[in-house]
Amino acid sequence: MISIEERAAELNGAIRDCLLCPLAETRTHSVPGEGPLRAEVMCIGEAPGMNEDRQGRPFVGAAGKFLGELLAAAGLQRDEVYICNVLKCRPPENRDPLPGEIEACAEYLELQIDMVDPLVIVTLGRFSMSRWFPQQAISRIHGNVREFDGRLVVPMYHPAAALHQGNLREVLLADFRKLPALLDQARGAKGPIAGSERLDLPITPVAAPLPKVNSDEQQASPGDTSPGQIRLFE
Ligand code: URA
Repeated sequence: MISIEERAAELNGAIRDCLLCPLAETRTHSVPGEGPLRAEVMCIGEAPGMNEDRQGRPFVGAAGKFLGELLAAAGLQRDEVYICNVLKCRPPENRDPLPGEIEACAEYLELQIDMVDPLVIVTLGRFSMSRWFPQQAISRIHGNVREFDGRLVVPMYHPAAALHQGNLREVLLADFRKLPALLDQARGAKGPIAGSERLDLPITPVAAPLPKVNSDEQQASPGDTSPGQIRLFE
């Protein structure tokens, strides 16, 4: 059995060399994610921006600075949290992720969640949120926690949104300030967590276990927008 560090190295290597969608042709660096491999909290953003693309690290620009402030408001240091994105490569001009890109990258995120196994996932923005809360409006459900298979998922606005709409700053701060209590609950609870059923939302099952990857399958070429197969841990 391989160690979690070996697993992370293999996963990060696969993301760095990924050719599963056309963003491979326009990126400078892919951005796997960073943070402790046994972090209790995982923050999932949308996609790398210009600074992240240059440095190969998530949330290193203005939105990342604000994310640091938000985490501090929750009593957390950035280096205590695992931070990654739905897309591992920057969409040109920071346009919205395309469905095919999200699909191509989805297994990387599943593998990261499975590997880190956080108690609490904070989704940042609607693209990250929609994996757990499809069809929901972030304006309605931000800050409302739900439990998925013993893990808490809290949708929040994207920090960059507050850089453009000042009124969201306090909203985000208030939502992040809920994290310490949620973490305490999650640490102590393995069953349903009080307050997590407040929203009358359809429960979306956590994604099915990752499919076994057939090593005979070909990887998609960069020109192919259909998701390919990720070969890891064989
Ligand atoms: N916005 C994101 O969603 N992710 C980053 O890494 C940076 C900005």
